[in-house]
Amino acid sequence: MSTPSSAKSLDSHAILKRFTKFNTQPEAEKWLKKYFETVSGFTTKDSVCAVFDIDGTILRDRDEKTPLCNKMLLNLFQLCRSLNIPIYIITARPEGREQRKWTVDQLKQCGYPPGSYVELRMMPVPEWKKLDKVANWNFSDYKYQERQRIVKNTKKSIILNAGDQWTDLLRVPPCSGSSEEKVIYDSLKNFPNSGVYVGSLVDLSWLCVKLPH
Ligand SMILES: [Mg+2]
Repeated sequence: MSTPSSAKSLDSHAILKRFTKFNTQPEAEKWLKKYFETVSGFTTKDSVCAVFDIDGTILRDRDEKTPLCNKMLLNLFQLCRSLNIPIYIITARPEGREQRKWTVDQLKQCGYPPGSYVELRMMPVPEWKKLDKVANWNFSDYKYQERQRIVKNTKKSIILNAGDQWTDLLRVPPCSGSSEEKVIYDSLKNFPNSGVYVGSLVDLSWLCVKLPH
């Protein structure tokens, strides 16, 4: 049975209410700093981690010779570090010696030296070759599985998840999720691609930061 359009708009309204939209990155950063000051009082550091995307998130443009680094993300990264919250970096860039070397170097130039993050996860080439880059869903599926793996292997929950695509942040990829996930995804992709959305798609312990792409 198809979803009535009234349910869709209701859903969209409900989702928007779970997010605060900041027009500028410094405004979002200020709010996030306050948030971490609050949670750091009662969060057991050993039980949480943060997940960051690279392209469009840590880096504003992947192909520039000198990487264009996103200052807000670096500040967030350093904030997590000061609170001993481990950071995992997940990218859909294909795994490979040269790609990894280039990526590690770009991260280093932006203030993320090796050892400052726990792991850099890159997409296995066979999966990357199968990507349907138009739908963007395979990225979502891959990143979702990586987040699941981190949670399962480390027994930590994700306290902060930052990306420039809604598919970086979804609880379940829309391609394999229920119709509810598809409705959520359809609503999200219609939100204006400007400003910074900060909020939760899962529960209050999983904070999403969505940058414009
Ligand atoms: Mg990205």
